[in-house]
Amino acid sequence: MSAFSSLGLNPNLVATLQAANYTEPTPIQAQSIPLILSGHDVMAGAQTGTGKTAAFALPILHQLWASKDCEAPSTVKALVLAPTRELAQQIHKNFEKYSAATAIKVGLAYGGASLGVQMTALKEGVDVLVATPGRLIDLLFKKAVTLDALQYLVFDEADRMLDMGFKDEINMILKRVPKQRQTLLFSATLDDAIFKLSKTLLNKPKLVEVSERNAVASEVEQIVYNVDADRKRELISHMIGSKNWQQVLIFTRTKQDADHLAKEMCKDGVKTQSIHGDKSQGVRDKVLAEFKEGKVRALVATDVAARGLDIQELKYVFNYQLPYIAEDYIHRIGRTGRAGESGLAISLLSIGEEYLLEEIEALLDTRLNQQWLPGYEPDLTKEIQPDRKNSKAAQKRRAKKRAYGQSTGNKRKPSRK
Ligand code: AMP
Repeated sequence: MSAFSSLGLNPNLVATLQAANYTEPTPIQAQSIPLILSGHDVMAGAQTGTGKTAAFALPILHQLWASKDCEAPSTVKALVLAPTRELAQQIHKNFEKYSAATAIKVGLAYGGASLGVQMTALKEGVDVLVATPGRLIDLLFKKAVTLDALQYLVFDEADRMLDMGFKDEINMILKRVPKQRQTLLFSATLDDAIFKLSKTLLNKPKLVEVSERNAVASEVEQIVYNVDADRKRELISHMIGSKNWQQVLIFTRTKQDADHLAKEMCKDGVKTQSIHGDKSQGVRDKVLAEFKEGKVRALVATDVAARGLDIQELKYVFNYQLPYIAEDYIHRIGRTGRAGESGLAISLLSIGEEYLLEEIEALLDTRLNQQWLPGYEPDLTKEIQPDRKNSKAAQKRRAKKRAYGQSTGNKRKPSRK
């Protein structure tokens, strides 16, 4: 008997999983699926790459199938909310893959794409809807969708939804869904804000945690190189070239840095593209497809744009700059080492950025060894200007401001990319 059937899943679903080479459930799946099948609300802490999508998708599909509701004209019975388009696309793709042997219809709605096309698709009826909160609200107001028959509500990457300021949208959506429902909340990080949110969303949830809180995928090797800020690009191009790495994801903090770095790396002879919220959905999809196919060797991304990217066998991630929000480090390096594959995450640290590393180390409860890459040792003769405004507290305050103002000038909340 397959390990998946012992969890109580429908044999047809199990056959689909076998065909996709899913032989063993991952820990998050092994723990969540039985709880969800027995009707509990679940709050799960699982970082990306752990198989969390299947952990909620499979039991939902199983239950929809068992209820045979899907033979009737489709109304939305399961809603999955995701913070970004990329993540929504990824979840939708997974649902389609797992439901291939069923009559269950899965729909997708996200901002930045034609509302009309999505409205037409919804008119034909869907059983499962994967949506970003803003676009869902547009559709609700236009009466293109109703959630009156909803039975399952999923929040994926709930921590990021809060970071992106979706609290009001979540509350609006909650007013339009039945109180009697099963609710599942997945979050890479479980902190006080998530526990507080869970109180308004979930009913006596079972808590599932697959690894220590705020842990990173265990197969990811983490390296920190000290390097001068103006030599970071050179170091990345050198490593990619000399080691013949083919698929490399690089994170910058801003869209401007992403564009600039991609341009300069192309000059170094490394075919590179950038992906961020200012690029249209069509361009982002095209760039991502080229990266996955190996036509583009390096992809430079901002944090929000990279959420939900699932690239099979992505081995190398660079942090050109460390993120201002320490949790983003976990999300970034979670792009590699997915589903047990090994991965390498290299962070480039220049003078003045040490406090960001300290915050990450505090979050991970681990020290990350700093080292020098031969040929790229930092120039210690460069004088460090004493800066009274550079106290740790001041740096932190500025970092937070910058993080929230990064995409919207000086506004507090980041734009929904
Ligand atoms: P996720 O954390 O949901 O983004 O999943 C990460 C990757 O693991 C995706 O490419 C999934 O297709 C894959 N995956 C999920 N569950 C399993 C499994 N039980 N066996 C093998 N691969 C899996």
